[in-house]
Amino acid sequence: MTELGIDALCVSVGPDLPYLTGYEAMPLERLTMLVVPRDEAATLVVPRLEAPRVVEQPGVFSVEPWDETDDPIERVVARLGDAAVVAIGDQTWARFVLALQAATPDARYRSATDVTGPLRVVKDSDEIARLRAAAHAVDEIALSLREISFAGRTEHDLHREIVERMLDAGHERANFAIVATGPNAASPHHDPGARVVERGDVVLCDFGGTMDGYCSDITRMYVVGKPSPEVRDAYEALTLAQQRAVETATVGTTCEAVDAAARSVLADTGLDRWFIHRTGHGIGMDAHEDPYVVAGNTTVLEPGHAFSIEPGVYVPGSFGLRLEDIVVADRDGPVRLNEAPRDLAVVA
Ligand code: ZN
Ligand code: ZN
Ligand code: ZN
Repeated sequence: MTELGIDALCVSVGPDLPYLTGYEAMPLERLTMLVVPRDEAATLVVPRLEAPRVVEQPGVFSVEPWDETDDPIERVVARLGDAAVVAIGDQTWARFVLALQAATPDARYRSATDVTGPLRVVKDSDEIARLRAAAHAVDEIALSLREISFAGRTEHDLHREIVERMLDAGHERANFAIVATGPNAASPHHDPGARVVERGDVVLCDFGGTMDGYCSDITRMYVVGKPSPEVRDAYEALTLAQQRAVETATVGTTCEAVDAAARSVLADTGLDRWFIHRTGHGIGMDAHEDPYVVAGNTTVLEPGHAFSIEPGVYVPGSFGLRLEDIVVADRDGPVRLNEAPRDLAVVA
């Protein structure tokens, strides 16, 4: 904060708060805000009825509960003192930002990510251990899905089963479970619906949740019966593209070079025109965070950067394929946290 000339940091809902305090605020109309003045103790301004969930950390922050008829903005403003530059959390509700700005007309506001981003983007060994535990939990699910029968079930039904399995496997929260079957898989973020799985369908399963505060995210592909030659060949190219991008993700390489590695393999067979999204996203307490593996991002990978590598091929009206692992950049080379088999699983 001193380096950046920031007088106070204010974070509300979103991962910055649990990262700094261990407490995650519910996204409510009642304001929760951690105020961190540069030279003074930090205070968590929190609704009285939420306060019992907070584990106070003496020496880190103290708790200031506000009652139903109090004005929490007033409490925050009192803590801000005469701060001229305030860094505010990206996910803070606009109504609170507007109220704060109105109450502190002389203060200049900027993004808290300038402060928290560089801290959060590099994972320490404890964070990597949590990401790995979450990855292994979904690996088991991806593996177990090879044994169930898909045919005759709806996407929605399969979606529900995956959500349940994530909770059973120790996730405190299921963040998403995309089940996209047949031609629906050509839409990368398809909403699971009423379509019934048929013989010959490819089924894209992309799911993740939060376990011990850290996110999982995996995509595996299943096919009911024999894949068509077109699907088989595209999946072979996709596997190679994913492998090449993972190998490229060494410390010192730019994010855009990793993206280009995946894209160039698909270009060899003309499939790159169906690869319509970036190669990956950072992951941590947030399912999508820095660093983004995308053309134009010249961020150089550092030890402790954690991100997905998830190239895809989406042929409208026909089929879609994606293969996704979480990878950590390490001095000894890229480390995949996911270990579930990556072949196109033939299921019933
Ligand atoms: Zn996605
Ligand atoms: Zn995913
Ligand atoms: Zn992902």
